[in-house]
Amino acid sequence: MREEAERSRVRKMVKHVTSKVWKFYKIEENKLISLKKKCPRCGSFMGEHKDRYHCGKCGFTVFKK
Ligand SMILES: [Zn+2]
Repeated sequence: MREEAERSRVRKMVKHVTSKVWKFYKIEENKLISLKKKCPRCGSFMGEHKDRYHCGKCGFTVFKK
């Protein structure tokens, strides 16, 4: 019983992470072509915001000048 609860909890976590990552990569595909701004900390492509670039992977943020 306890094991089953643990398994469903893990499954929920995996599902959550997967959808988040998928969303992230869908955004990155566009940025790859137009921006190609890479995170200096982890090397992932960063998302562009109004006033900053943000790395969704490690949380690194660069403000636009
Ligand atoms: Zn990063």
